[in-house]
Formats: sequence, structure tokens, C-alpha cells
Amino acid sequence: MGFGDEIMVTAEARRLNDATGRAVRIVDRHGRSRWNEVWENNPRVAARDFCGEVATLRNGPGCRHYLVEARRDRFVFRAGAVTAPGEIWFDAAEQEEVEAMRAGRPYVLIEPNVDAGFGHTVNKDWGFERWQAVARALSGVRFVQAGPAGVRRLEGAEPFESGRFRRALVALAGAALFVGSEGALHHAAAALRIPAVVVFGAFVSPAVTGYASQRNIAVPHPGYPLGCGLRTGCADCRAALDSIPVAEVVRHIQGALAGGGAID
Ligand SMILES: [Zn+2]
Repeated sequence: MGFGDEIMVTAEARRLNDATGRAVRIVDRHGRSRWNEVWENNPRVAARDFCGEVATLRNGPGCRHYLVEARRDRFVFRAGAVTAPGEIWFDAAEQEEVEAMRAGRPYVLIEPNVDAGFGHTVNKDWGFERWQAVARALSGVRFVQAGPAGVRRLEGAEPFESGRFRRALVALAGAALFVGSEGALHHAAAALRIPAVVVFGAFVSPAVTGYASQRNIAVPHPGYPLGCGLRTGCADCRAALDSIPVAEVVRHIQGALAGGGAID
């Protein structure tokens, strides 16, 4: 659906690269070569102009490994397809910046917004005001919020301008912790081995897109054990998100900052 999908692809690319010893060409459902900025510098992924022997991985819109089906109205999820974190490879300049950010005062990267470019993301949106309440409740914590110019910013969080998604990855890689909704940055946090507190709600289950190393705050959906998947605004997903108290997210952030990893 977005960058999160393309990060998940890199775990599949690693598996295929390890099995074959060949660079992996990622193709769409018609067999055409694909490229995404999150694969930059990844030595396992064949660039479009790569001429050597390749192994082919079919993964893209309409053929995602974690979906049984992308119906017009609803995503039908597959359990157990996301088995390991993906990979993100920085170039030397990016790595230098990551190290400089790590050397500063520790911070939590917070993402209060969901990608409005898709119809379903409203079903992952815990709510900007709740994230604002989280930041207020943890006033001793340094929060940094990445995002392009003009994005809605939390009061009390330092802005980090990231016009390109890779810039947000740099900010994430320097962080002590990531907190936000299920989405691209929680996949990126797993790939970068950054601890995370992730609000899932009921749209998709951590059994589908979650990582055991992260604190996943999910609400079971009575009709869809792997997550609702509805591609338009859903009352059940809204109710599930509304049932997650600010205090619970705050408690998980405190626990994670105190050194605890996944929820027991
Ligand atoms: Zn729903």
C-alpha cells in the first residue's frame, strides 16, 4: 500500500538472495521490473540497469505476499507471511547523519499522522489529539516528529523536515524509540532494530504485519481475526481505536524507555 509494503519486500528479497546467491529483481504482477527508494543501497536488490543473473521476486500492487486477496472493498490478510524484519541500507552521508543524531540527546520519534493517500488509513488513525495528549503526559521526553513542510505538527515535538521518505528513515534510525500507528515507520523501525510502540487497533492484526520485538497495541476484531481490512471508513475500527486509552500508550512508552522490549 505504500513504503511499508516495500520494506516488507526486503525481507523476502533477503530470503531469496540467501537461497540463490543472486541479486533479486523485484517485479510487478505483470513481470515488469519495479523500483522504490527504500531499496536504495540494498546490495540484494537488482537495480533496473543491473545486467547480471538475477532471481525474480513477484511482489507489488495486486500481488502482496501478506494478502490472500485485495478485494475492491476489503483486504483479506494472510497470517504468518511477515516472518522477519526487512532491511534498510544507508549510504555514507545518511549513515553519518544517523550517527550524529544518535550522539545527541536521546529522543523518541513520534508519528501522529497517517498517510491520507489511501482510503483505508482512517481505520488506523488513533487520532492526532491522542498523540498530542501522549506527548503532553511525557513532558520530560524529547519527541521528534518527521514529515514534509506543512504537515500537522505536535506541540512540544521538534520538527524534522523529511521531504523524501528516506529522510524520515534517517530520523528514525537515530531514535531511541518509535511510537505511532501501524504503517511504514513501524516496518522501518523493525528493519532498523529501533524499539517501537505500535497502535494497531483492529484494521490489521499483529499476526499479519507485526513484529515480536515491538509493543503492539491491538484490539481483536470479532468477525475478522486477522484484522478487518475494510478499505473505507469503518465503525468497528473506529470503536477499536477509541477503546485504546492514552494512559495505556503512555505506559508502554515508559516501559519501552525503561528498557522493556515486546509486551509480555
Ligand atoms: Zn473495520
